[in-house]
Amino acid sequence: MPKPLPYKKILLKVSGEVLMGDSAFGIDPTTLARVAEDIAEVVKTGVELCLVVGGGNIFRGVSLAGHGVERATADYMGMLATVLNALALQGALENKGIYTRVMSAIPMEAVCEPYIRRRAIRHLEKGRVVIFAAGLGAPYFTTDTPAALRSIEMGCEALFKGTSVDGVYTADPKKDPTATRYDTLSHQDVLTRDLKLMDASAISLMRDNKIPIVVFSIRERGNFLKVLQGEGVHTTIT
Ligand code: UDP
Repeated sequence: MPKPLPYKKILLKVSGEVLMGDSAFGIDPTTLARVAEDIAEVVKTGVELCLVVGGGNIFRGVSLAGHGVERATADYMGMLATVLNALALQGALENKGIYTRVMSAIPMEAVCEPYIRRRAIRHLEKGRVVIFAAGLGAPYFTTDTPAALRSIEMGCEALFKGTSVDGVYTADPKKDPTATRYDTLSHQDVLTRDLKLMDASAISLMRDNKIPIVVFSIRERGNFLKVLQGEGVHTTIT
């Protein structure tokens, strides 16, 4: 018997970086297919799933801002990068037999639907995965804040952050070998200790709306379902 899941509706934020695999840039097809397989496994349990994908594998606004391109313009470029990733994930998920809709905060009707809250909720009810693209449609943010905002708007019970690190550490584990992983933290701990897991605006939105955040590595095959079942290595922020 499969283990019953603690949540009926969740949002998964996938950082763009994950989609690069071992490459330095862009989308690695093998990695994309593996991430889609993990997501499909979860969708097949019947959970309603929202997705937000970053754009860091293609473009981040801060990389051009201050180098002759205005920050706002560069951030709009970053938002467009998230649309590219959203379409890639849509294709990969449909290839696994999962119905999806991409909804963009910046309307681009030849490519995907515009974001309309009530329509997104209806898609979820019908078992479609909704992929939210173009962030908030506003510069000076990363995709953490739209992930938090959409999870609240959709009535999600938890936000899962799938990254390349298996939780939240006392310091960057790639730079500091003495760094240790937290099992649980409060939203306030994250803010007070200035732990760089998400933007402060995202953490405070989640704190005010009492929604837990689960940070885990989406690089390991099968980990998303495991973590959703309360197993596997992760950090929970409640
Ligand atoms: N971005 C933005 N507003 C948003 C979401 C994203 O301006 O609401 C831009 C910003 O430049 C950001 C880029 O899009 O750097 C890509 O998103 P992010 O850095 O969050 O990608 P990730 O690190 O998750 O791959």
